[in-house]
Amino acid sequence: MSPKLKILPLSDWIVTDGFPLLISGPCSAESEQQLLSTAKELAGIDELKVFRAGIWKPRTRPGDFEGVGEKGLIWLNKVKEETGLLTAVEVADNSHVELALKHNVDILWLGARTVVNPFSVQTIADSLKGVDIPIMVKNPVNPDVKLWLGAIERINEIGINKIIAIHRGFHYFEKSPFRNAPMWEIPIELKRAAPNLPIIVDPSHICGRRELIESISQKALDLEMDGLMIESHLDPDNALTDSAQQITPEFLRVILKKLVVRHKKGDLNFQHKLEELRTEVDKLDGELLQILAKRMDIIDEIGEYKKDNDITILQMKRWAGIIADRMSIGTHMGIDNVFLKKLLNLIHKESIQRQEDIFRKR
Ligand code: PEP
Ligand code: MN
Repeated sequence: MSPKLKILPLSDWIVTDGFPLLISGPCSAESEQQLLSTAKELAGIDELKVFRAGIWKPRTRPGDFEGVGEKGLIWLNKVKEETGLLTAVEVADNSHVELALKHNVDILWLGARTVVNPFSVQTIADSLKGVDIPIMVKNPVNPDVKLWLGAIERINEIGINKIIAIHRGFHYFEKSPFRNAPMWEIPIELKRAAPNLPIIVDPSHICGRRELIESISQKALDLEMDGLMIESHLDPDNALTDSAQQITPEFLRVILKKLVVRHKKGDLNFQHKLEELRTEVDKLDGELLQILAKRMDIIDEIGEYKKDNDITILQMKRWAGIIADRMSIGTHMGIDNVFLKKLLNLIHKESIQRQEDIFRKR
C-alpha cells in the first residue's frame, strides 16, 4: 500500500461518458496540417477526450527526428480551439514544462526513459510546484514497480493530485511478439499498492505493431484498466516516428467498435491472480523452449564431434543411463512417470534425428 498517495478520482476532473478514458493522436507532431487534420478526424470519435502529440522526442541516436519543439505547441493550441479536445504532451525536463505551461497544454506526461531516473523526475516535479495540472506517469523502461510508484509519489508530494499511471510495457531481453513486454503483473501490483490511482494502457508502445493493438486494448479493458492511449496518424507508414505501431483514426474507430467494455465482471482479485499465474506460465514456457533449443544446439555439436571422430550416433548404454537418471530426478520432483518417459523418449528421438541429418550432410 502507498498510504502517502492523495489522488483525485478520474471522474472528478475529466468527463469520460462511461467509456474508459481514451487518448489518441500522433506519436510526434510533424506539421501544423498533420496535427489539425488528424485532430479533426479524431474529434468525430465520441469516446475520445484527449489529443496527444510528442513535441520533443527521445531518440536512441542523435540525428533522428527529434520533434518540432515549441512551434508544435502553437499548433496544439489551434487543435484545442478548433476541436475542443484536451491536449497532452510529453515533458522530459523543466524547460519542456515551462514551455508547455506557457502554451496552455492541458495534461503533461513523463515518458518511460525519464521515469527511470529519479533525478529527472524530481527536477520536473520541482518545476511543477504550485501548478494545478494533470500529470501522467509512464512506467519506467525496466520492470520495476517501485521506481514507477516512486515517480508518482514525487509528483504527488509537490501537491499534484490529478495523476494517471500509463502502462506502456517493459524492455525484455528475450524474444517476444511485443516491442515492450506487457508483464501485466506489474500494473496489477501497482494497482494493489495504490488502489485509487487510475491506470491507463498504451497498447501502441506495448505492441510496436498495429496488428496487435486490438487484442492488447481488449485485455486492458478486461483487466479493468481505466483507459487507453493509442497512437494515430493519417498516413502511418510515412510517420516520422513509430510508424509500424500507429493506426489511422479510421482504424481506431474500427477497433473501438469491436472492443467490449464489460461492466459486470467476476471477482477482480480472482482475475488479477489468474493473470499473474498466466504471465508466470508464459515466462516459464519461454524458458522451457529456450532450454530445449539450447539442448538441441549442443546435440548438434556432439553430432559434429562424433562424425569427425567416426563414432556411432546411438550409444545405447549412455541413453539407458540418461533415462534412469532423469526418471529418478523427475519423479522425485512430482512429474508423472508415464508422461516423463514419453517426453524423454521424444527428446531423444529428435536428438538422434538431428545427428543423423548431420551425418548425412557431409
Ligand atoms: C511516446 O509516447 O511516443 C513515447 C516516446 O513513449 P514511451 O516513453 O512510452 O517510449
Ligand atoms: Mn511513440
